Amino acid sequence: MQTEVVSNLSYVNGDLDEFISYMNQHHISQRRGAMIATVNPEIGYAVMKDHAYHQVVSSADYVLPDGVGVVLMSRMTQSPLKSRIAGFDVFMSMLDLANKQSKRIFLYGAKKEVLEAVKQRIDTEYPNVVLAGSCDGYQADKRFVAKQIARSKPDMVFVALGYPNQENFIYEYRHLFPQAVCIGLGGSFDVFSGTVKRAPRWMIKTNTEWLYRLIVNPWRWKRMLNIPKYAFAVLKESKGKKRYYPEQVKDQTKQL
Ligand code: UDP
Repeated sequence: MQTEVVSNLSYVNGDLDEFISYMNQHHISQRRGAMIATVNPEIGYAVMKDHAYHQVVSSADYVLPDGVGVVLMSRMTQSPLKSRIAGFDVFMSMLDLANKQSKRIFLYGAKKEVLEAVKQRIDTEYPNVVLAGSCDGYQADKRFVAKQIARSKPDMVFVALGYPNQENFIYEYRHLFPQAVCIGLGGSFDVFSGTVKRAPRWMIKTNTEWLYRLIVNPWRWKRMLNIPKYAFAVLKESKGKKRYYPEQVKDQTKQL
């Protein structure tokens, strides 16, 4: 897949269909695992502020621009991305593939009742999908969940814990299920289950989904301030006014 670098993250530069057919050809049909990170401006800003989290997200095999803000900033900093690729749409497309190929999936995240509704919808709308296992997102022992995932031998692992927990979880434990394509999905289970409504189609098309989220969840305003903060930070950085990443880490062994 072609990529484009925006603020030290190398994003997939394509559209949803290209990405899904690439994933199918190179990973899903071959049972070759991968980590997919879906980065919106909030996550982009968190990555700029936290080097450990940057390391986790940039270790993903595919970083998707899951927010119009990321695409906008890519264009303003002369590294244009073709389009947004929303995590939710990737989830739906991967379920389609899983249904066509009778793949095994593991669902991890969200509240118990949300997870139950997700499982029910998958059962009726994607009858050939094999539910290898599931676990709600409020278990204290993450290592135990990881072992449960490994034992179930899934082809796809959908992790909907919100950031940064979902990326940190995949980063830490993906070696236990190397055949699986793992993706962090934020609040996608809430939307898929109907617990939370996604923005109307016209808002998605006009790139104002973020505004819908703010209207529906006004308590999020503080968190959403990170969107303009991200934009300013990327611009500042692209003009060479601020570095958000440290110099190359020194090779300590040479000093011994
Ligand atoms: N969640 C979870 N465990 C936690 C905290 C959150 O499973 O300890 C779930 C929560 O129920 C919701 C999702 O993670 O389904 C996070 O949704 P949010 O919209 O905050 O995520 P975002 O897409 O903004 O990262």
